[in-house]
Amino acid sequence: MIRRFKSAVISALALSLAAWLPAAPAFAASSAALPPGVVRHIVVFKSGIERGARLSIVQGEGGQVVRELPLINAVVIQGDSSRILDAKAGLSRHSEVLRVDPDPVVNWLVSVDRGMGEFAAPSASEILGAAASALKTLKTAPQPAKPAGQKTPWGVSRVHAPEAWAKTAGQGVKVCVVDTGIDMTHPDLKGNIAGGWNALDNSSNFKDDNGHGTHVSGTIAAVNNAIGVVGVAPKASLYGVKVLDASGSGSFDAVIAGMQWCVQNHMQVASMSLGADQGNDSLKETVAAMAKGGVTLIAAAGNSGPGAGTVGYPAGYPGAIAIAAMDSSDKTADFSSRGPQVAFIAPGVNVLSTYMGGGYRSLSGTSMATPHMTGLAALAIAARGVSGYQSVLAALKSAATPISGVDAAEQGNGVVDARVLAGGSHAPRRR
Ligand code: CA
Repeated sequence: MIRRFKSAVISALALSLAAWLPAAPAFAASSAALPPGVVRHIVVFKSGIERGARLSIVQGEGGQVVRELPLINAVVIQGDSSRILDAKAGLSRHSEVLRVDPDPVVNWLVSVDRGMGEFAAPSASEILGAAASALKTLKTAPQPAKPAGQKTPWGVSRVHAPEAWAKTAGQGVKVCVVDTGIDMTHPDLKGNIAGGWNALDNSSNFKDDNGHGTHVSGTIAAVNNAIGVVGVAPKASLYGVKVLDASGSGSFDAVIAGMQWCVQNHMQVASMSLGADQGNDSLKETVAAMAKGGVTLIAAAGNSGPGAGTVGYPAGYPGAIAIAAMDSSDKTADFSSRGPQVAFIAPGVNVLSTYMGGGYRSLSGTSMATPHMTGLAALAIAARGVSGYQSVLAALKSAATPISGVDAAEQGNGVVDARVLAGGSHAPRRR
């Protein structure tokens, strides 16, 4: 099964990868860590400088190119720190070079993830309970019964996703999860996984070795079947782009390369449940290039809590849709970052979803809120035929209702209602 899946992915991606990865440079191993004393920098050129010129200028200054980032007219160089300093000094003398950005390896999950929750696979009694309630539903209502043994997580219900599925479940919408990868063989996900890429080793193996990316994926598009959980857009196509290693660490260039992959492979929505307290201009320009390239980027606001301007990056940059987290009582999560960039709030406390190894876990964080909005964006695209950052954002805004008494810096436009996205008019408020 794994073999068959991999070969399908390879054949599906062979063309697109070959198209933009000529003369593949030497990539680092799949861990994001660099050898001691070795650093990377991102050399950004002015627009209009051809690829050949970019490479020859960098190589002429002794820079070892380890990755190309054509989306932002950049190349990534790696070497020991003294050699990189020399190259930087040399490069600064070329008028074609716009600037040289630092490219640190950071942990992108510490500021968006609240750590591991308790293991929360449905118990036998819960499965029986679900079966009983499904039977009850059958007796009392004409709607189809909920499949026995599958739980609808509270957040999926809170955004009224199930009530939109008669119109659309997100079928055909390409959603990219830029994260630690996805458990490709998870029984509640594999039916929706359509492809992906590993930015750490430049391979098609985007297997999750952390668990985070698999959890995010389940909230977006866990399959509507008889097991586990169900996502907000349970027929969306999932693409896994692995930019973080097993510890949640990754270089800026790996994260940017994953975002670039989304543009080059025509993803409609990108979900980024990751962030850093400090960004850089390369990351900022990549966010803008995604919006320009037609990719709607949904990103976690961060878990830095109250305070002025605590939204992290990429969420805080123009072109990203920053998502805050709330609990099941419509209260802003205490950990949720605040700031003027917050666009919406979504369920992010005790969120049950898929986990690597075929399991399920309940986790908290703006990491968990973000994929609810990603699923809603997929529903908006499928139901309304909208495309691109501005149109998708407008559709989401038109379906959002603020929570009364909550500051705009905590919730932005409020909570999005899938019924409105699917129906086109404002549905009555639930509470
Ligand atoms: Ca399921």
